[in-house]
Amino acid sequence: MRRADIMLIGAVIVLVALGLLAGRGDHGSADTTHGDPAEPAPHRSRAAETAGGEAPVAAADPELRHEFGTPPDARHVPERAVDTDEPPRLALEPEAEDRPLPTLYEVAEGVYMLFGNIAEVDESNRGFNGNAGFVVTDAGVIAIDSLGSPELGRRMIATIRSVTDKPIKYLILTHSHPDHSYGAVAFRRLGGVTVVGHEGTLDYIHSERIDGSAEYRRGFIAEDMQGFEGVEPDVLIGGERFSKRSIHLGDRRLEVYNVGQHHSAGDLVVRQVEARILWIGDLAFNGRVTFMADGHSKQILEGQRWLMESFGERARLMVPGHGSAQTPPFPMVERTRRYVTGLRRKMARAVEQGWGLQKAVERSHMPAWEEVRLYGLNHRPNANFVYREMEMALF
Ligand SMILES: [Zn+2]
Repeated sequence: MRRADIMLIGAVIVLVALGLLAGRGDHGSADTTHGDPAEPAPHRSRAAETAGGEAPVAAADPELRHEFGTPPDARHVPERAVDTDEPPRLALEPEAEDRPLPTLYEVAEGVYMLFGNIAEVDESNRGFNGNAGFVVTDAGVIAIDSLGSPELGRRMIATIRSVTDKPIKYLILTHSHPDHSYGAVAFRRLGGVTVVGHEGTLDYIHSERIDGSAEYRRGFIAEDMQGFEGVEPDVLIGGERFSKRSIHLGDRRLEVYNVGQHHSAGDLVVRQVEARILWIGDLAFNGRVTFMADGHSKQILEGQRWLMESFGERARLMVPGHGSAQTPPFPMVERTRRYVTGLRRKMARAVEQGWGLQKAVERSHMPAWEEVRLYGLNHRPNANFVYREMEMALF
């Protein structure tokens, strides 16, 4: 399918979605996620965060929530989910009665993307701050990621149901961070869904980190988090790095790659063979600064090299965990690589010069990135994390 066709289908879907939206009275929000480099955000303890991606701090002050969150007084639903710099700004109603989510786009035939906000979790966006998707085959549905709460998981299922009544057979979790996996329990309760995840996911589910992270989310969206529990995958992906397992369902084949632990306790990339689409999880970010609190920055670079060498010439579309999907030459991968490389270089120099952690983080500013969403919230914790990596490498 040509790119124009993809965009046309996306536009049709979003018009339908807008119609539904108007009928439901969901209200939207403005994007406030441009970071303020002067904002150290130490009270959020981002630097100390672990695989949850969030600190167990329940009460951030309201101003901060809005700086990085989603105020409910404006709305933007993009025309398409491919090659756009304008992510949705949606506020979701707390009592949504598990209705379909409004930002659904068909990015290829039978391939759907749920396009999330780029923001921190708050009461307005209710944790809908990452992407997910699903593939409809003639024998059932394969979901990829499950969004950020049990309620969002139920709404994702309702969204799938708005497109097809075929059974949901698989849920593949690209990694265990909350914005990607906390809806998984809704799929588990549905029954008949085989959950596929990285073997490292088990470590996370059986750690205290998941409790702290869930508690943090309850501070904003307690109702939506009701019934939350970690979901152990039925099929664990591990083995050699960049090895793959195939899933055949009906007329479609998916390959699930172990990309190591570049961003979490274990990260997967999903290749949808016939459509030449890659679901890359958080291996690259589109229009947002990454968050590094677990994983390994060197592995990010290795994973990106593998991705581009293996599929850069062959893929038609890459769907990241955050931001719009992208067509070749997939500039988000190079952009994320530049940020990570730049920060590694900066922190390596700081360690070599004998700077302490605090001084190194204070001088870690990267002006070229300060207008990018979530820089203000994530950059200093990222600098902190990479500094420690560089220190470890040296000693
Ligand atoms: Zn993410």
